[in-house]
Amino acid sequence: MNVSVVVFTSDLRLHDHPPLRAALDGSRPVVPVFVRDPAVDRAGFAAPNRLAFLADCLRDLDTGLRERGGRLVVRHGDTVEEVCKVAAEADADEVHLAAEAGAFAHRREQRLRRALETDGRRLHVHDAVTTAVPPGAVTPASSDHFAVFTPYFRRWSQQPLRDTLAAPREVRVPDGIGSEELPSRNGAAGLSPGLAAGGENEARRRAAAWLRSGAESYEDRHDDLAGDATSRLSPHLHFGTLSPVELVHRARRTEGPGAEAFVRQLAWRDFHRQVLAARQDAARSDYRTRHDRWRSGPSAEADTEAWGEGRTGYPIVDAAMRQLLHEGWMHNRGRLLAASFLTKTLYVDWRVGARHFLDWLVDGDVANNQLNWQWMAGTGTDTRPNRVLNPLAQAKRYDPDGAYVRRWVPELAGVPGAAVHEPWKLSGAQRTALSYPDPVVDLPEGLARFKQARGLG
Ligand SMILES: Cc1cc2nc3c(=O)[nH]c(=O)nc-3n(C[C@H](O)[C@H](O)[C@H](O)COP(=O)(O)OP(=O)(O)OC[C@H]3O[C@@H](n4cnc5c(N)ncnc54)[C@H](O)[C@@H]3O)c2cc1C
Repeated sequence: MNVSVVVFTSDLRLHDHPPLRAALDGSRPVVPVFVRDPAVDRAGFAAPNRLAFLADCLRDLDTGLRERGGRLVVRHGDTVEEVCKVAAEADADEVHLAAEAGAFAHRREQRLRRALETDGRRLHVHDAVTTAVPPGAVTPASSDHFAVFTPYFRRWSQQPLRDTLAAPREVRVPDGIGSEELPSRNGAAGLSPGLAAGGENEARRRAAAWLRSGAESYEDRHDDLAGDATSRLSPHLHFGTLSPVELVHRARRTEGPGAEAFVRQLAWRDFHRQVLAARQDAARSDYRTRHDRWRSGPSAEADTEAWGEGRTGYPIVDAAMRQLLHEGWMHNRGRLLAASFLTKTLYVDWRVGARHFLDWLVDGDVANNQLNWQWMAGTGTDTRPNRVLNPLAQAKRYDPDGAYVRRWVPELAGVPGAAVHEPWKLSGAQRTALSYPDPVVDLPEGLARFKQARGLG
């Protein structure tokens, strides 16, 4: 009984990994295990893009462990049962796991703790593995979580972070612990053709390149849709191939307004996790109800379908939605305007849009997705819940010469300049030559419907 088990979940890395370092405690033998749990699939998390990315991550993790003398043990089944079995096979006395915010992870942790205790083993849960600042570490005087970002960020910024941990040099895994085959992305159906590659090596390469030459212009360029000047680190943060603590330390060291603005976005990630940890029902229910009676029925369904397929007739919205289908990722400005369009202009329930995003996003996660959707729908933490993003104004501001639209909406690739944002204004012959739909709704009509629904006069 001098063996530890480390359960990897959304922390698929070797660098800066507190559970692994604690499990090794010098040089104890360790069983690194990942469980493919069908309950995760049943909960709706098993989108093809994320499964493919996960397969990359697991292969890379296994390679990294093998380079250090170990290997990854993969099991399929209920996480609690499988971890208990592995712990029994290895005669381990302790199990290490990273803390996570959502209801699913919380229940899993509690069940695992009880089951291990019954067998006489201890569960150690580690904070600041999947977040920089753990949920609950900073709270306002009168509540268990911050409901507004700005005061949260102030406190978050003052919070001391733990030091970064190096990757271990050696990992000794006991013999005789069976593993299933590693999953592979080869042959997976339903993937976005432009899906990024996963894995810790790729994450570290991307982070280094970003901090070297991308972050400095982040403040000025993060909203430039065509410029694509954000880090694209979100899938790596989602799967934990990058440590948020390490990323904050490294970004702070690079200094400058770009790095500061980038760190602020990383704080948004923690902000949503602390909201979800305190209000787990916010994954499904309005955080702050506005008593919406969202549209339903055939016309709302047809509008939603057009939105999901990028056929709303508003080129900037359609470009964003098609980027999502093609890459399994969408620029933040695109996410904002696509979400505003669905929930406010079309007045369709945010849950419908959030589901579609979760089906496609490689970085799709409950905290960030559901709470950003709620933010834009005005049922979340936005202090201006009735703001509506006008897609034309957004297009002119964030894609001024239309390059983003022409990239993602090939039917419009021949329309020059900003005219691409309003194809309905093209001359008769030019317009009829385009195989592109008319707008699903007039903007003033959509706005009036929203205002009436929210009782805004
Ligand atoms: C409707 C909607 C749905 C979203 N769904 C998700 C989701 O499922 N998963 C997800 O990771 N992000 C989500 N976001 C937040 C944001 O759009 C993405 O994190 C960002 O676009 C990822 O690109 P990036 O890595 O280049 O970001 P960067 O701009 O480089 O930012 C760095 C990191 O900060 C974090 N971050 C940035 N913006 C936000 C934000 N608004 N909220 C929380 N964290 C943020 C991300 O981890 C991101 O990787 C959503 C936003 C909206 C408006």
